[in-house]
Amino acid sequence: MRLRNITGSREVIAENDFVIHDPEKRKGRWHEVFGNDAPIRLEIGMGKGRFLMTLAAQHPEINYLGIEKYSSVLLRALQKMEETPLPNLRFIRMDAEYITDVFDKEEIDRIYLNFSDPWPKDRHAKRRLPSRQFLARYDGILKADGIIEFKTDNRDLFDFAVNEIKEIEADESYEGSKWKIDAITYDLHNNETLVAGNVMTEYEERFSSQGNPICKYIISR
Ligand code: SAM
Repeated sequence: MRLRNITGSREVIAENDFVIHDPEKRKGRWHEVFGNDAPIRLEIGMGKGRFLMTLAAQHPEINYLGIEKYSSVLLRALQKMEETPLPNLRFIRMDAEYITDVFDKEEIDRIYLNFSDPWPKDRHAKRRLPSRQFLARYDGILKADGIIEFKTDNRDLFDFAVNEIKEIEADESYEGSKWKIDAITYDLHNNETLVAGNVMTEYEERFSSQGNPICKYIISR
């Protein structure tokens, strides 16, 4: 039966083989899911999944996982996977707040944050995926030489993200890892170096076609 003919997204996801249903049980054993020792890269807030599907097709030697909070959104990715199945790509429906329950120390090679929800109210800052609270979680699952790549057209969110790195650096009482910015641009599509190999996300295509410049940073510890 074709997925697009089915209504209840939760039920469809519960039965889909591309979705990992018991992610906590895989903690420390994610290589078993893919059946190899290739690096594992994660997109958090993957939306409809085009970015990961493009990368997974381009790089069969790397494993990819997509995390998405909402079943209705993840369903769209599953519909695409049904048409073009990729052995090195799997999905998890969960809130990224709990990623340290799902991944062990140093289990993840790279994290992608693409067009993350801005949560514009100050009191919601800790829900922003590039916030210091989330960086501390990423610190708990990323390899020592792992990197985080973040892109967005939302300048306020991007300035917040850059400022988080600076404030963590300046805070002597901060107990987690410090981060450094390895690369940064406020206009990705006109940055010859950083745009090389860039894979557009659904949101990136929409906002850049409206003329919005795309900001990007790459950070490591
Ligand atoms: N990355 C995609 C792109 O660039 O086209 C989608 C961007 S969309 C603005 C942000 C997505 O992140 C939404 O699908 C949302 O449900 C998901 N999301 C936001 N917060 C999340 C969280 N804490 N855990 C998992 N997914 C989350």
